[in-house]
Amino acid sequence: MVDMDTLVSLCKRRGFVFQSSEIYGGLGSSWDYGPLGVEMKRNIRDLWWRDVVHLRRDVVGLEAAVLMHPRVWEASGHLERFSDPMVDCNACKRRFRADQLDDVPWVHYCPSRKDTKFEVPAGEACAHCGERRILCPVCGKGALTEPRQFNLMLKTFLGPVEDEAAVTYLRPETAQGMFVNFENVLQATRRKLPFGIAQVGRSFRNEITPGNFIFRTREFEQMELEFFVNPADTVDGQPADEYWHQHWIAERLAWYRRYGIRAENLRLREHAKEELAHYAKRTVDVEYRFAIGWSELEGIANRTDYDLRRHAEVSGRTLTYFDDERKGHVVPYVIEPAAGVDRSFLAFLSDAYHVEEVRGERRVVLRFHPEIAPVKIAVLPLLKKRADIVARAWAIRDELARRWVTVYDDTAAIGRLYRRQDEVGTPYCVTVDVQTVGDAEKGETGDDCVTIRDRDSMGQMRVPIGEAALALGRLLGGAEWATVAGGYPTQGAKGNHDA
Ligand code: ATP
Repeated sequence: MVDMDTLVSLCKRRGFVFQSSEIYGGLGSSWDYGPLGVEMKRNIRDLWWRDVVHLRRDVVGLEAAVLMHPRVWEASGHLERFSDPMVDCNACKRRFRADQLDDVPWVHYCPSRKDTKFEVPAGEACAHCGERRILCPVCGKGALTEPRQFNLMLKTFLGPVEDEAAVTYLRPETAQGMFVNFENVLQATRRKLPFGIAQVGRSFRNEITPGNFIFRTREFEQMELEFFVNPADTVDGQPADEYWHQHWIAERLAWYRRYGIRAENLRLREHAKEELAHYAKRTVDVEYRFAIGWSELEGIANRTDYDLRRHAEVSGRTLTYFDDERKGHVVPYVIEPAAGVDRSFLAFLSDAYHVEEVRGERRVVLRFHPEIAPVKIAVLPLLKKRADIVARAWAIRDELARRWVTVYDDTAAIGRLYRRQDEVGTPYCVTVDVQTVGDAEKGETGDDCVTIRDRDSMGQMRVPIGEAALALGRLLGGAEWATVAGGYPTQGAKGNHDA
């Protein structure tokens, strides 16, 4: 498993993710997505939207404002309960989440070794004296205060007067936008239960200990679905809410697998009764084996009718659904798959990262699923001094760019250009060489063919320019390299630009 420092450094060097406000020393745990990052993030969002909204018959979309009426947070319980236990170190003054203290390695001045300083792995006892961590895990010297509850809502003021009446909050989840618009959507779309409302958007939490790159930040993006079901219904002999909860758990796990995450790095974790949120009947997390260990990638909760009931109580509106069959009003239950765009980004990136040896050289390759890859095709001229080769390469790039994110690069020799594309996960390269265009001075015409090169196998095939888009379309659509390459001459060692 690739470590976090390697990923952070690759992300910066290749333009996936930069530290926010870096020229001012950076803002803690705030990150900017660079030219490649922005494409990849958009792919994740678009795939989610396609699979969760467009391809389904029972889900519609919504985009609610980040700023909502402050009473929304009173009704949802966030003002009262959306907090984490916090402790302070009385020596170095650092703050920690009390429930995560043992998730990090800890500094220990071992009394049995003349107070020598050691770093002990997370959650373990000292191998010398057997002591467990009781002091500050970072400085190793200070005692920690008793835990206090710290509210994670980011407060702000609306309008020119900064008084209590103007207080509002940046939303800590997108979900409430769907609950407060339940009636609007129901009336506008005339939906029957079960149906879902989906949203992708930014959320904000004043996390006590943000960190681990984009895993935990104070501003992040969520992809949430609120799937409303009739609690009076049964499906396959099960209460509808339980049936649909199980359906979405399977569906979401399969989604990560579909876009390339390896099965051994994914697992489901059932929340114990004591850790369930105040609104939840049952919650199952999809966890990924991040560099920091198994951690939540997505939470799938059965929120019951808690939210609609609370909003009805606090707003005074009736938020119910008329059950035609039973001739009565019901308050729907809701199943919520809540995923993070940034965490998915980190998981896709970590899982794709591979290092291998090719003819005695180290090759770093991001084996992204083509739909996740930020760039789908790179068009590369073999000789940048030849104006005719360059012109043809640009023309091909411009044509392919109408359908796929396609880049042109001539800033190095071909072998180096391939490695650069491997390192950012570009599935296919198209190379234009002397053979393609011929040599006008010698009166030689070209063969009008290009070389298509496969990132994963490094195989190469020679394809007429007129068929290149078709071949690339098949490949990017999921056809096996061997199947497509079977229809064309493949390059031997001589013509293989990778050699
Ligand atoms: P955690 O236990 O890690 O704090 P959570 O259980 O509070 O997460 P949810 O409220 O279930 O998280 O939010 C749904 C998803 O939103 C998470 O699975 C995660 O992908 C994403 N998410 C939540 N908080 C953050 C954050 N601070 N930074 C990045 N992504 C986040």
